[in-house]
Amino acid sequence: MDTNGNRLLVVDDQPDILDFVGQVGESVGYEVRLANDAKQFREAVRSFRPSLMILDLQMPQTDGIELIRELGAVGTRATILISSGMDQRVLQSAEQLGVAHGLNMAGFLQKPIMLADLEAILGQHLKAPRLPTEEELRRAVDRAQLLVHYQPKCALSDGRWAVVGVEGLIRWEHPDLGLVYPDSFIPLAEKTGLIAALTDFVLQEGIGQLGTWRAQGTVLDLSVNLSPHLVRELDFPDRLSELMSKHALDNSRLTLELTETAALEDPARTRDILTRLRVKSFGLSLDDFGTGFSSLTQLYRMPFNELKVDKSLGMELHQSGEARTIVRSLVDLAHNLGLKVCTEGVETAAALQFLEVAGSDFVQGYYLGRPVPATSIPPLAARVPMLAAVG
Ligand code: C2E
Ligand code: MG
Ligand code: MG
Repeated sequence: MDTNGNRLLVVDDQPDILDFVGQVGESVGYEVRLANDAKQFREAVRSFRPSLMILDLQMPQTDGIELIRELGAVGTRATILISSGMDQRVLQSAEQLGVAHGLNMAGFLQKPIMLADLEAILGQHLKAPRLPTEEELRRAVDRAQLLVHYQPKCALSDGRWAVVGVEGLIRWEHPDLGLVYPDSFIPLAEKTGLIAALTDFVLQEGIGQLGTWRAQGTVLDLSVNLSPHLVRELDFPDRLSELMSKHALDNSRLTLELTETAALEDPARTRDILTRLRVKSFGLSLDDFGTGFSSLTQLYRMPFNELKVDKSLGMELHQSGEARTIVRSLVDLAHNLGLKVCTEGVETAAALQFLEVAGSDFVQGYYLGRPVPATSIPPLAARVPMLAAVG
């Protein structure tokens, strides 16, 4: 069954409730995962990526409040419903706590749970079965519905991890669908050619923002994702240089992130443009390395100066020996080729410690900071850097 990204995670220590809610969830159209303790819950949040969670406030070893705090720390985007037999006041304060942690709280489900209530509430949270349309995306560009969030990129300095740059990530404030993330509209933008306008927007916005931060005393680097389809215009490096000098910024402050598909379309032209970008001192990063889309050959055929290890590897570091072996080898490989390495998807202290020993030059991930609006970046950059694990 195509559940259209509707994934329901139910957390409860009572097996009969789990079964009941799970069955109703499936009948309404969700893919369902059940968890009856905190360990299963954490694992499911990580690997199953629920869109909706029903969370029991009272659990044996952990309580729902602790879990809410944890969800806040990992920055889940899921909608959260609290279920409990406790009184309204307790439920409300749990709800407020979730909101304070930046979570998408959607109310309560009073126990005992009634079938009709459950069906109604699950139906209500079923994500819109449609993706945005081309027409809507066109309007989004014209009506200024696009925005950029920035995620900190950190490097070791004097034995501490400090924010040295940001990656600009596009978002769409859709009038009906709410905040839409790029995975839902970048493919459409690429298919329709709107990607050029989107990328222009992110570059203009991000480079302008870099100038604003610098004027406020925060000097940062910027990384921007560049769609493969855009590495075709021969005058792109010159236009980008002009934009940088308009804001009196050094070209070396900007890195363009590409996935490997870029090079496949027209290798000669791509190499021409990429080489001229490097000659002009822009950075070039091979993004999402370690996924099916990236390949080793690009590393030496194209003039990249950074390798970005995909977040799927970063996210596994704390629990997978294989992931650790692969990342350690990638760091060595990149260094031997004279490239810097940035590892994405750093979600735990354990992953950060590992990367420090492995020698990843840069790290990025929810543990260090989620993508946030521009105004939240200077305080993050000024924050006392994270103590490194060694040295
Ligand atoms: P990406 O370039 O690999 O960006 C990193 C993505 O990983 C971002 O998702 C970010 O929010 C997410 N992420 C960062 N740290 C963690 C972590 O610790 N755990 C987890 N689970 N995720 C983490 P986002 O913003 O949804 O972007 C998804 C993709 O959309 C980007 O992947 C990029 O390929 C594309 N994209 C974003 N903005 C643009 C843009 O302006 N132009 C183009 N062409 N593509 C863009
Ligand atoms: Mg990227
Ligand atoms: Mg990436």
